[in-house]
Amino acid sequence: MIRANDPTLHSWIQISPESDFPIQNLPFGIFQTPEKDPRVGVAIGSYVLDMCVLGQYNMFELIDIDPTVFHRPFLNDFMALGRPTWRAIRNRVSELLRTDNEEISGNSELMQKCLIRMTDVEMLLPVKVSNYTDFYSSLEHATHVGQMFRDRENPLLPNWRHLPVGYHGRASSIVVSGTAVHRPNGQTLDPQEESPVFGPTQQLDFELELAFVTGKETTPGSRVSTEEADEHIFGLVLLNDWSARDVQKWEYVPLGPFLSKSFATSISPWVVTLDALEPFRVKGPEQVPRPLPYLDFTGHRHYDINLEVLLQPADREEISLCHTNFKQVYWNMSQQLAHQTSNGCNLQVGDLYASGTISGSEPGSFGSLLELTRQGSTPLTLPDGSQRSFLHDYDTVIMRGFAEKEGIRIGFGEVKGQVLPAV
Ligand code: MN
Repeated sequence: MIRANDPTLHSWIQISPESDFPIQNLPFGIFQTPEKDPRVGVAIGSYVLDMCVLGQYNMFELIDIDPTVFHRPFLNDFMALGRPTWRAIRNRVSELLRTDNEEISGNSELMQKCLIRMTDVEMLLPVKVSNYTDFYSSLEHATHVGQMFRDRENPLLPNWRHLPVGYHGRASSIVVSGTAVHRPNGQTLDPQEESPVFGPTQQLDFELELAFVTGKETTPGSRVSTEEADEHIFGLVLLNDWSARDVQKWEYVPLGPFLSKSFATSISPWVVTLDALEPFRVKGPEQVPRPLPYLDFTGHRHYDINLEVLLQPADREEISLCHTNFKQVYWNMSQQLAHQTSNGCNLQVGDLYASGTISGSEPGSFGSLLELTRQGSTPLTLPDGSQRSFLHDYDTVIMRGFAEKEGIRIGFGEVKGQVLPAV
């Protein structure tokens, strides 16, 4: 077992049992305050640990690392150091925060400088995203969409069970949680009309997804096997793949989504390491037919992560729209990475690979309004009596996620974004 994952560990920092960030998690992010320029932080309870200050106090001197790597506006340079270094740093942070360690807790000057309340920091985009791929790996989601847009009897296209379907998304418009998103304009065709029109989307939607970030590059022409994939994965974030369904429906044939997706994609600020999620590996759904050898894998490569979407209309309470779980996603991350590189396409540090909408089979577990309202035909009725087929201006969408076992909760925090009117 990775030492930092031991469920019996406790920190000298008081941490509520409901916190997403116990000592067993230690996710990495980028923060700033009025006094501190952007830098690397680690979440612990309701605090952020300033990694830059810990480096200045020589807290990492036994690890072969230039501590100025924490004084950067993105995690990329740290991630590029590779998995043995990520692991050594996480283990060292875990050690510093344990009840039996006084290197920080016994040094009031250092403690004051390196621990900042989460409420006093601004979280920034954690990764400079090099390339962004969005997969389509939930069998339930692909089935629901296929039933609505194509064929009720044969919703899955013939390729779906043979390869993790995906498309290349837009990296430039990936934003951190808390960033408002303007309703996009686009071209749509009303089925009753002959000609398309241009204007604000009438069918703005969310997609509940998890995404992984790569921290190890490859050279063009090389491939990553399913066995090697974990060495490339730094960690995971929550992702909201905002989607304009009316634009998508008109534009997507035959090359797939384009402007209906590229206007904004929101991610959560804390990158939860693959190491922290190690105890939550589970067996995934059975894959029939058995995938081709390059997609075959050994061991448990799915992860048991609970997910939730909430909607907060302007000046109202949050309403839960869906609960689902990452473990039922058909294609796992190792297979996605093996497929992505199977043609020799190179990986870069800071690539983002999203799962595709994560839906279950029951109503209440669907990860998009498209599915929850059947393309808007069965609107949701909210507690205040108002209805939602798709998102309204000033609605806020919130996604949360956590894994839990033996009383240890490894949480992702949240990804949140408010819809503003079209400009
Ligand atoms: Mn998507």
